[in-house]
Amino acid sequence: MLEIETTSEANRLSLEALSDRIAITAHPEKLEKFSQEHAGFYVKYASVVLRTLKRPLFQKFLRWMLRKENIETQTIRKVEVRVLPYRRRNGNGLAGNCNTYIGKIRIYPRTLKFCQRLIQDFGKDGFASYVRIRARAALIHELLHLKYEKDERKVRELTKRYFSIFAHNRVTKDSHVSHICTILFKTEATEKESCRRLPDSSPSSFPTSSLG
Ligand SMILES: [Zn+2]
Repeated sequence: MLEIETTSEANRLSLEALSDRIAITAHPEKLEKFSQEHAGFYVKYASVVLRTLKRPLFQKFLRWMLRKENIETQTIRKVEVRVLPYRRRNGNGLAGNCNTYIGKIRIYPRTLKFCQRLIQDFGKDGFASYVRIRARAALIHELLHLKYEKDERKVRELTKRYFSIFAHNRVTKDSHVSHICTILFKTEATEKESCRRLPDSSPSSFPTSSLG
């Protein structure tokens, strides 16, 4: 009985697009503690993240990456876009985490305070780019954890490599990308290598011909 249920669940997940498993998870009771403006900011942030992660071009890239890494899409049950930031004691933000056991990924925002500083430094467009880049890098990172589990070094190295492949394959008018990547991978990863560096594998291996 249990076996049948597990099989049908696996079948359902294999047919369902990864994109359909990404959703915003809000806890209204936690949001109530914030001012309307503050809460509104986080709600908007989450909707930008959701839209970014569900974009067909990025989804196509993820399917390619998962195939290349032999990660079964059925192992990903849910991707939660959290509305409120995760606070760590060391003050560093947590971009995401992955429960490899149940296949659940969570993506967290930056704090409002941090975002306000970014807006001051980069302007609104630069900040919007940062939010999108951070969300994509976080999902790539957490998906890789499904395979490499606790090998953080390997996951970080591959995150940078795959993110570079994605970034180099899309037509971007965004002048902030390189700069943001440097900040992002410096503050949220320990390795010194910047994502400006070209990936080892050929970027052309990611099929872009039919992308819209
Ligand atoms: Zn990690």
